[in-house]
Amino acid sequence: MSNENKSIHEFDFHLICEYFSSVERQGPGSPEVTIKALGFIDHLTNESRIADIGCGTGGQTMVLAQHVPGYITGIDLFPTFIDLFNLNAGKLNLQDRIKGIVGSMDHLPFQHEELDLIWSEGAIYNIGFERGLNEWRKFLKIGGYIAVTEASWFTEERPAEINEFWMDAYPEIDTIPSKVTQMQKAGYIPVATFVLPENCWTEHFYAPQVFAQEAFLKKYAGNNTAEELIANQRHEVELYNKYKEYYGYVFYIGKKI
Ligand code: SAH
Repeated sequence: MSNENKSIHEFDFHLICEYFSSVERQGPGSPEVTIKALGFIDHLTNESRIADIGCGTGGQTMVLAQHVPGYITGIDLFPTFIDLFNLNAGKLNLQDRIKGIVGSMDHLPFQHEELDLIWSEGAIYNIGFERGLNEWRKFLKIGGYIAVTEASWFTEERPAEINEFWMDAYPEIDTIPSKVTQMQKAGYIPVATFVLPENCWTEHFYAPQVFAQEAFLKKYAGNNTAEELIANQRHEVELYNKYKEYYGYVFYIGKKI
């Protein structure tokens, strides 16, 4: 979800949940990119324990489960997303290996050194990249992996309009070398980074929202909050189209040492 910094009251919260529940992904990404990132991770077995933090309705978790052995716990703050997550797991007959639970990424229910892999697509910004890498590290076994996607600048400088948008939305956005340094300092070997291709935004994130937006506006005609939510989403798409050479999402994969 995109309005990283927007404070929301209860009513907005339900509307936002409903809106994002109607699309398969709640952030940029694609099955191809999830599989590519998995290519850097080895040593997973039927006994491996994996966590997908900020899993949403589980678009990427289902792809993970179909390509790695082991047990996956998906965690998200929003109960509506977790209900859909568990429904999706059941539909794919993956319910014995995947479980969605409601919880917060700043209070994870894992034991120290329990996990072989921590996954988090488009979600670590909620706790902050640096804080997430540092705090989640204790849950990983030595030699375990973390793989997260994070908004990043592609250039050292950028136009004021897009800079201001991100300074308001997520001031922790930074260049790829800075993020890699943060990963190293947090106690991981930076194993790989790669930029998510444009279709992760256009085809997999924004395009499905076009239909969702029309349906949503129809249902909530005259509702200011709903109209504002959709206007924000549309503004974000415009900014992406205008400034996509300056920023995007990057996969950061690290190994705990
Ligand atoms: N990984 C999914 C969802 C990304 S959107 C995808 O790529 O499609 C970010 C997700 O983080 C949302 O589902 C939101 O509900 C969740 N989230 C926000 N704050 C959280 C917190 N404190 N703990 C756990 N999940 C959180």
